[in-house]
Amino acid sequence: VFANVVQAPEDPILGVTVAYNKDPSPVKLNLGVGAYRTEEGKPLVLNVVSRAEQMLVNDQSRVKEYLPITGLADFNKLSAKLIFGADSPAIQDNRVATVQCLSGTGSLRVGAEFLARHYHQRTIYIPLPTWGNHPKVLTIAGLSVKYYRYYDPATRGLNFQGLLEDLGSAPSGAIVLLHACAHNPTGVDPTLEQWDQIKQLMRSKGLLPFFDSAYQGFASGSLDADAQPVRLFVADGGECLAAQSYAKNMGLYGERVGALSFVCRTADVASRVESQLKLVIRPMYSNPPLHGASIVATILKDRDMFHEWTIELKAMADRIISMRQQLFDALQSRGTPGDWSHIIKQIGMFTFTGLNTEQVVFMTKEYHIYMTSDGRISMAGLNSKKVPHLADAIHEAVTR
Ligand code: PMP
Repeated sequence: VFANVVQAPEDPILGVTVAYNKDPSPVKLNLGVGAYRTEEGKPLVLNVVSRAEQMLVNDQSRVKEYLPITGLADFNKLSAKLIFGADSPAIQDNRVATVQCLSGTGSLRVGAEFLARHYHQRTIYIPLPTWGNHPKVLTIAGLSVKYYRYYDPATRGLNFQGLLEDLGSAPSGAIVLLHACAHNPTGVDPTLEQWDQIKQLMRSKGLLPFFDSAYQGFASGSLDADAQPVRLFVADGGECLAAQSYAKNMGLYGERVGALSFVCRTADVASRVESQLKLVIRPMYSNPPLHGASIVATILKDRDMFHEWTIELKAMADRIISMRQQLFDALQSRGTPGDWSHIIKQIGMFTFTGLNTEQVVFMTKEYHIYMTSDGRISMAGLNSKKVPHLADAIHEAVTR
Protein backbone atom coordinates (compact mmCIF):
# COMPACT_ATOMS: atom_id res chain seq x y z
CA VAL A 1 0.00 0.00 0.00
CA PHE A 2 2.97 2.32 0.39
CA ALA A 3 4.58 1.42 -2.93
CA ASN A 4 3.83 4.83 -4.43
CA VAL A 5 5.53 6.81 -1.69
CA VAL A 6 8.30 8.82 -3.28
CA GLN A 7 11.67 9.37 -1.65
CA ALA A 8 11.73 12.73 0.17
CA PRO A 9 14.80 14.96 0.01
CA GLU A 10 17.06 15.26 3.07
CA ASP A 11 16.49 18.27 5.30
CA PRO A 12 18.72 21.09 3.99
CA ILE A 13 20.39 21.58 7.40
CA LEU A 14 20.22 18.17 9.12
CA GLY A 15 21.04 16.53 5.77
CA VAL A 16 24.49 18.14 5.93
CA THR A 17 25.27 15.98 8.98
CA VAL A 18 23.97 12.88 7.19
CA ALA A 19 26.45 13.54 4.35
CA TYR A 20 29.23 14.33 6.83
CA ASN A 21 28.69 11.04 8.70
CA LYS A 22 29.09 9.10 5.45
CA ASP A 23 32.46 10.73 4.64
CA PRO A 24 35.39 8.50 5.74
CA SER A 25 38.00 11.31 5.46
CA PRO A 26 39.99 11.90 8.70
CA VAL A 27 40.15 15.65 8.02
CA LYS A 28 36.40 16.13 7.60
CA LEU A 29 34.78 19.08 9.36
CA ASN A 30 31.06 19.63 10.03
CA LEU A 31 30.12 23.31 10.06
CA GLY A 32 26.53 22.63 9.05
CA VAL A 33 24.37 22.16 12.09
CA GLY A 34 24.32 24.87 14.78
CA ALA A 35 25.52 22.84 17.72
CA TYR A 36 28.30 23.89 20.07
CA ARG A 37 31.57 21.96 20.08
CA THR A 38 34.55 22.36 22.41
CA GLU A 39 38.10 23.23 21.31
CA GLU A 40 38.54 19.45 21.05
CA GLY A 41 35.60 19.27 18.64
CA LYS A 42 33.39 17.42 21.15
CA PRO A 43 29.77 18.11 22.15
CA LEU A 44 29.56 19.81 25.55
CA VAL A 45 27.37 18.99 28.54
CA LEU A 46 27.53 22.04 30.82
CA ASN A 47 28.82 21.32 34.34
CA VAL A 48 25.83 23.07 35.81
CA VAL A 49 23.52 20.81 33.79
CA SER A 50 25.29 17.67 35.07
CA ARG A 51 25.02 19.04 38.60
CA ALA A 52 21.28 19.70 38.20
CA GLU A 53 20.75 16.21 36.76
CA GLN A 54 22.59 14.67 39.71
CA MET A 55 20.38 16.57 42.14
CA LEU A 56 17.29 15.37 40.31
CA VAL A 57 18.48 11.75 40.41
CA ASN A 58 19.23 12.00 44.13
CA ASP A 59 15.84 13.46 44.93
CA GLN A 60 13.88 10.42 46.13
CA SER A 61 10.59 12.30 46.11
CA ARG A 62 10.62 12.67 42.33
CA VAL A 63 8.13 10.69 40.25
CA LYS A 64 7.51 10.27 36.55
CA GLU A 65 3.91 11.46 36.45
CA TYR A 66 2.57 13.40 33.49
CA LEU A 67 3.09 17.12 33.54
CA PRO A 68 0.04 19.34 33.04
CA ILE A 69 -0.75 20.22 29.39
CA THR A 70 1.00 23.57 29.91
CA GLY A 71 4.14 21.96 31.39
CA LEU A 72 6.09 22.55 34.57
CA ALA A 73 4.72 25.65 36.33
CA ASP A 74 8.06 26.72 37.86
CA PHE A 75 9.79 26.34 34.52
CA ASN A 76 7.20 28.55 32.83
CA LYS A 77 7.46 31.34 35.40
CA LEU A 78 11.25 31.29 35.37
CA SER A 79 11.42 31.23 31.57
CA ALA A 80 9.20 34.30 31.31
CA LYS A 81 11.43 36.05 33.87
CA LEU A 82 14.53 35.11 31.91
CA ILE A 83 13.38 36.66 28.67
CA PHE A 84 11.23 39.58 29.85
CA GLY A 85 13.31 40.47 32.92
CA ALA A 86 12.54 39.96 36.61
CA ASP A 87 11.09 43.48 36.89
CA SER A 88 9.00 43.26 33.73
CA PRO A 89 5.71 45.15 34.13
CA ALA A 90 3.95 42.44 32.11
CA ILE A 91 5.01 39.75 34.59
CA GLN A 92 4.13 41.91 37.58
CA ASP A 93 0.67 42.53 36.12
CA ASN A 94 0.19 38.79 35.51
CA ARG A 95 -0.51 39.41 31.83
CA VAL A 96 1.90 36.80 30.46
CA ALA A 97 0.67 33.32 29.52
CA THR A 98 3.59 30.87 29.24
CA VAL A 99 3.46 27.23 28.21
CA GLN A 100 6.31 24.72 28.08
CA CYS A 101 6.80 23.42 24.54
CA LEU A 102 9.10 21.13 22.58
CA SER A 103 12.10 23.44 22.29
CA GLY A 104 12.08 26.46 19.99
CA THR A 105 10.50 24.65 17.05
CA GLY A 106 7.58 23.35 19.11
CA SER A 107 7.04 26.79 20.64
CA LEU A 108 6.87 28.36 17.19
CA ARG A 109 4.48 25.70 16.01
CA VAL A 110 2.08 26.01 18.95
CA GLY A 111 2.18 29.82 18.78
CA ALA A 112 1.51 29.81 15.04
CA GLU A 113 -1.36 27.36 15.37
CA PHE A 114 -2.97 29.47 18.09
CA LEU A 115 -2.68 32.53 15.84
CA ALA A 116 -4.18 30.69 12.89
CA ARG A 117 -7.20 29.82 15.06
CA HIS A 118 -7.72 32.95 17.12
CA TYR A 119 -6.03 35.94 15.50
CA HIS A 120 -7.72 38.00 12.81
CA GLN A 121 -4.67 38.13 10.51
CA ARG A 122 -3.17 34.97 9.02
CA THR A 123 -0.26 36.66 7.26
CA ILE A 124 3.14 36.41 8.89
CA TYR A 125 6.17 38.31 7.59
CA ILE A 126 9.50 36.57 8.03
CA PRO A 127 12.99 37.90 7.24
CA LEU A 128 14.73 37.16 3.94
CA PRO A 129 16.69 35.02 4.49
CA THR A 130 15.73 33.15 7.66
CA TRP A 131 16.18 29.77 9.34
CA GLY A 132 15.01 27.26 6.72
CA ASN A 133 12.46 25.62 8.99
CA HIS A 134 10.54 28.86 9.69
CA PRO A 135 8.39 28.94 6.52
CA LYS A 136 7.61 25.23 6.86
CA VAL A 137 6.59 25.35 10.53
CA LEU A 138 4.48 28.46 10.07
CA THR A 139 2.77 27.32 6.87
CA ILE A 140 1.84 23.90 8.20
CA ALA A 141 0.33 25.58 11.27
CA GLY A 142 -2.04 27.48 8.99
CA LEU A 143 -0.35 30.87 8.52
CA SER A 144 0.43 32.45 5.21
CA VAL A 145 4.10 33.41 4.87
CA LYS A 146 5.44 36.58 3.25
CA TYR A 147 9.00 37.90 3.38
CA TYR A 148 10.44 41.24 4.42
CA ARG A 149 13.86 42.36 3.19
CA TYR A 150 16.52 41.86 5.84
CA TYR A 151 19.99 41.14 4.52
CA ASP A 152 21.93 43.14 1.98
CA PRO A 153 24.50 40.93 0.20
CA ALA A 154 26.33 44.03 -1.08
CA THR A 155 27.15 45.34 2.40
CA ARG A 156 26.84 41.98 4.16
CA GLY A 157 24.79 43.93 6.67
CA LEU A 158 21.20 44.84 7.43
CA ASN A 159 18.98 46.19 4.65
CA PHE A 160 17.31 48.53 7.13
CA GLN A 161 15.61 50.68 4.51
CA GLY A 162 14.18 47.61 2.76
CA LEU A 163 12.98 46.23 6.09
CA LEU A 164 11.18 49.46 6.99
CA GLU A 165 9.61 49.71 3.53
CA ASP A 166 8.36 46.12 3.57
CA LEU A 167 6.94 46.28 7.09
CA GLY A 168 5.55 49.73 6.27
CA SER A 169 3.52 48.28 3.42
CA ALA A 170 2.37 45.17 5.33
CA PRO A 171 -1.38 45.01 5.97
CA SER A 172 -2.42 46.35 9.35
CA GLY A 173 -2.36 43.69 12.05
CA ALA A 174 -0.03 41.33 10.18
CA ILE A 175 2.25 39.13 12.29
CA VAL A 176 6.00 39.75 12.06
CA LEU A 177 8.58 37.13 12.98
CA LEU A 178 11.65 38.73 14.55
CA HIS A 179 14.87 36.96 15.56
CA ALA A 180 15.44 38.26 19.10
CA CYS A 181 19.23 38.17 18.65
CA ALA A 182 21.94 36.39 16.65
CA HIS A 183 19.92 36.24 13.43
CA ASN A 184 20.17 32.86 11.72
CA PRO A 185 21.68 32.48 9.11
CA THR A 186 23.13 35.97 8.59
CA GLY A 187 24.58 36.84 12.02
CA VAL A 188 23.32 40.38 11.36
CA ASP A 189 21.21 42.09 14.06
CA PRO A 190 19.65 45.57 14.12
CA THR A 191 21.21 48.04 16.57
CA LEU A 192 19.09 49.05 19.58
CA GLU A 193 18.30 52.36 17.86
CA GLN A 194 17.12 50.45 14.79
CA TRP A 195 15.05 48.13 17.00
CA ASP A 196 13.38 51.18 18.46
CA GLN A 197 12.46 52.41 14.98
CA ILE A 198 11.18 48.96 14.03
CA LYS A 199 9.07 48.98 17.17
CA GLN A 200 7.61 52.42 16.47
CA LEU A 201 6.70 51.43 12.92
CA MET A 202 5.17 48.12 14.02
CA ARG A 203 3.17 49.64 16.84
CA SER A 204 1.90 52.45 14.62
CA LYS A 205 0.58 49.87 12.14
CA GLY A 206 -0.64 47.41 14.76
CA LEU A 207 1.75 44.68 13.51
CA LEU A 208 2.04 41.79 15.97
CA PRO A 209 5.63 40.87 16.99
CA PHE A 210 6.45 37.15 17.28
CA PHE A 211 9.97 36.85 18.68
CA ASP A 212 12.04 33.75 18.05
CA SER A 213 14.65 33.61 20.81
CA ALA A 214 16.88 30.62 20.12
CA TYR A 215 20.20 32.20 21.16
CA GLN A 216 19.68 34.26 24.33
CA GLY A 217 23.15 34.64 25.88
CA PHE A 218 24.93 33.33 22.80
CA ALA A 219 25.20 36.62 20.94
CA SER A 220 26.92 38.84 23.49
CA GLY A 221 27.49 36.38 26.31
CA SER A 222 24.96 38.35 28.41
CA LEU A 223 21.42 37.02 28.91
CA ASP A 224 20.05 40.49 29.66
CA ALA A 225 21.75 42.25 26.75
CA ASP A 226 20.49 39.64 24.28
CA ALA A 227 16.91 40.06 25.52
CA GLN A 228 16.89 43.87 25.09
CA PRO A 229 14.97 43.92 21.80
CA VAL A 230 12.17 41.81 23.31
CA ARG A 231 12.05 43.95 26.46
CA LEU A 232 11.87 47.10 24.36
CA PHE A 233 8.64 45.85 22.81
CA VAL A 234 7.18 44.71 26.14
CA ALA A 235 7.99 48.02 27.85
CA ASP A 236 5.28 49.93 25.99
CA GLY A 237 2.49 47.75 27.33
CA GLY A 238 1.63 46.22 23.94
CA GLU A 239 1.23 42.59 22.95
CA CYS A 240 3.86 40.20 21.66
CA LEU A 241 4.74 36.52 21.46
CA ALA A 242 8.07 34.92 22.30
CA ALA A 243 9.34 31.41 21.52
CA GLN A 244 12.33 30.42 23.68
CA SER A 245 14.74 27.55 23.20
CA TYR A 246 17.22 26.13 25.72
CA ALA A 247 18.89 24.00 23.04
CA LYS A 248 21.89 26.25 22.53
CA ASN A 249 22.23 28.35 25.66
CA MET A 250 21.99 25.38 28.04
CA GLY A 251 23.22 22.79 25.56
CA LEU A 252 19.96 20.84 25.97
CA TYR A 253 19.46 20.18 22.24
CA GLY A 254 18.03 16.67 22.40
CA GLU A 255 16.02 17.28 25.57
CA ARG A 256 13.65 19.50 23.53
CA VAL A 257 12.96 22.13 26.12
CA GLY A 258 11.45 25.50 25.29
CA ALA A 259 8.71 27.93 26.21
CA LEU A 260 6.07 29.97 24.41
CA SER A 261 4.84 33.20 25.99
CA PHE A 262 1.99 35.51 25.05
CA VAL A 263 2.24 39.00 26.51
CA CYS A 264 -1.36 40.24 26.69
CA ARG A 265 -3.08 43.50 27.64
CA THR A 266 -4.67 42.18 30.83
CA ALA A 267 -4.42 39.22 33.22
CA ASP A 268 -7.90 38.14 32.21
CA VAL A 269 -6.95 37.94 28.52
CA ALA A 270 -3.75 36.03 29.41
CA SER A 271 -5.79 33.48 31.32
CA ARG A 272 -8.15 32.96 28.38
CA VAL A 273 -5.24 32.66 25.96
CA GLU A 274 -3.70 29.99 28.17
CA SER A 275 -6.97 28.05 28.22
CA GLN A 276 -7.00 28.03 24.39
CA LEU A 277 -3.31 27.07 24.19
CA LYS A 278 -4.23 23.92 26.07
CA LEU A 279 -6.71 23.07 23.31
CA VAL A 280 -3.93 23.43 20.74
CA ILE A 281 -1.46 21.29 22.68
CA ARG A 282 -3.64 18.45 23.97
CA PRO A 283 -4.44 16.85 20.59
CA MET A 284 -0.89 17.54 19.31
CA TYR A 285 1.27 15.79 21.92
CA SER A 286 -0.86 15.85 25.08
CA ASN A 287 1.77 17.30 27.43
CA PRO A 288 5.49 18.09 27.29
CA PRO A 289 8.44 16.02 28.60
CA LEU A 290 9.53 16.34 32.21
CA HIS A 291 13.28 15.88 32.35
CA GLY A 292 14.67 18.87 30.42
CA ALA A 293 12.27 21.35 32.01
CA SER A 294 13.24 20.05 35.47
CA ILE A 295 16.92 20.67 34.67
CA VAL A 296 16.20 24.22 33.51
CA ALA A 297 13.97 25.03 36.49
CA THR A 298 16.58 23.66 38.92
CA ILE A 299 19.24 25.94 37.45
CA LEU A 300 17.10 29.05 37.04
CA LYS A 301 15.72 29.04 40.57
CA ASP A 302 19.04 28.62 42.39
CA ARG A 303 21.24 31.73 42.59
CA ASP A 304 24.55 29.84 42.60
CA MET A 305 23.59 27.54 39.78
CA PHE A 306 22.24 30.42 37.74
CA HIS A 307 25.54 32.23 38.21
CA GLU A 308 27.52 29.13 37.23
CA TRP A 309 25.39 28.86 34.10
CA THR A 310 26.09 32.46 33.06
CA ILE A 311 29.83 31.81 33.35
CA GLU A 312 29.68 28.65 31.23
CA LEU A 313 27.45 30.39 28.71
CA LYS A 314 29.86 33.32 28.43
CA ALA A 315 32.73 30.88 27.87
CA MET A 316 30.86 29.33 24.93
CA ALA A 317 30.06 32.76 23.46
CA ASP A 318 33.67 33.89 23.92
CA ARG A 319 35.07 30.79 22.23
CA ILE A 320 32.87 31.50 19.21
CA ILE A 321 34.02 35.12 19.10
CA SER A 322 37.65 33.97 19.27
CA MET A 323 37.03 31.56 16.35
CA ARG A 324 35.78 34.52 14.31
CA GLN A 325 38.99 36.41 14.98
CA GLN A 326 41.19 33.39 14.22
CA LEU A 327 39.47 32.67 10.91
CA PHE A 328 39.61 36.34 9.93
CA ASP A 329 43.34 36.52 10.79
CA ALA A 330 44.04 33.32 8.85
CA LEU A 331 42.40 34.73 5.70
CA GLN A 332 44.24 38.04 6.11
CA SER A 333 47.58 36.24 6.42
CA ARG A 334 46.84 34.26 3.23
CA GLY A 335 45.96 37.48 1.42
CA THR A 336 42.61 35.96 0.44
CA PRO A 337 40.98 38.46 -1.93
CA GLY A 338 37.88 40.29 -0.68
CA ASP A 339 36.74 42.00 2.50
CA TRP A 340 36.27 39.40 5.24
CA SER A 341 35.54 41.81 8.09
CA HIS A 342 31.95 40.51 8.25
CA ILE A 343 33.38 37.38 9.89
CA ILE A 344 34.26 39.41 12.99
CA LYS A 345 31.27 41.75 12.76
CA GLN A 346 28.52 39.13 12.56
CA ILE A 347 26.87 37.95 15.77
CA GLY A 348 26.06 34.54 17.24
CA MET A 349 26.75 31.01 16.12
CA PHE A 350 26.96 31.54 12.39
CA THR A 351 28.99 33.35 9.80
CA PHE A 352 27.21 34.04 6.55
CA THR A 353 30.39 33.82 4.51
CA GLY A 354 29.13 35.07 1.17
CA LEU A 355 30.50 31.89 -0.48
CA ASN A 356 28.21 30.71 -3.28
CA THR A 357 26.80 27.21 -3.75
CA GLU A 358 29.47 26.28 -6.27
CA GLN A 359 32.24 27.28 -3.85
CA VAL A 360 30.52 25.35 -1.04
CA VAL A 361 30.34 22.24 -3.24
CA PHE A 362 34.05 22.65 -4.08
CA MET A 363 35.02 22.93 -0.39
CA THR A 364 33.02 19.84 0.50
CA LYS A 365 34.44 17.80 -2.38
CA GLU A 366 38.08 18.83 -2.08
CA TYR A 367 38.42 19.69 1.63
CA HIS A 368 35.67 17.58 3.25
CA ILE A 369 34.22 20.69 4.87
CA TYR A 370 30.44 20.50 5.29
CA MET A 371 28.10 23.51 5.48
CA THR A 372 24.69 24.60 4.22
CA SER A 373 24.59 25.50 0.54
CA ASP A 374 23.91 29.18 1.31
CA GLY A 375 27.50 29.50 2.60
CA ARG A 376 26.55 29.59 6.28
CA ILE A 377 29.18 28.14 8.60
CA SER A 378 28.71 27.33 12.26
CA MET A 379 31.53 29.03 14.16
CA ALA A 380 30.60 26.84 17.13
CA GLY A 381 31.74 23.76 15.17
CA LEU A 382 35.19 25.23 14.48
CA ASN A 383 38.33 24.97 16.63
CA SER A 384 41.87 26.40 16.50
CA LYS A 385 43.38 23.26 14.97
CA LYS A 386 40.91 23.31 12.06
CA VAL A 387 41.17 27.01 11.26
CA PRO A 388 44.11 26.64 8.80
CA HIS A 389 42.28 23.86 6.91
CA LEU A 390 39.15 26.01 6.61
CA ALA A 391 41.12 29.12 5.63
CA ASP A 392 43.00 27.13 2.94
CA ALA A 393 39.69 25.85 1.59
CA ILE A 394 38.08 29.31 1.48
CA HIS A 395 41.20 30.76 -0.10
CA GLU A 396 41.27 28.16 -2.86
CA ALA A 397 37.50 28.35 -3.39
CA VAL A 398 37.61 32.10 -4.06
CA THR A 399 40.87 32.20 -6.06
CA ARG A 400 40.73 29.15 -8.30
N1 PMP B 1 14.81 29.34 15.65
C1 PMP B 1 16.03 29.54 15.13
C2 PMP B 1 16.35 30.85 14.51
C3 PMP B 1 16.98 28.53 15.19
O1 PMP B 1 18.19 28.74 14.66
C4 PMP B 1 16.65 27.30 15.79
C5 PMP B 1 17.63 26.18 15.86
N2 PMP B 1 18.48 26.01 14.84
C6 PMP B 1 15.36 27.16 16.31
C7 PMP B 1 14.49 28.20 16.22
C8 PMP B 1 14.82 25.93 16.97
O2 PMP B 1 15.65 25.09 17.59
P1 PMP B 1 15.15 24.01 18.62
O3 PMP B 1 13.82 23.53 18.17
O4 PMP B 1 16.21 22.98 18.57
O5 PMP B 1 15.07 24.73 19.92
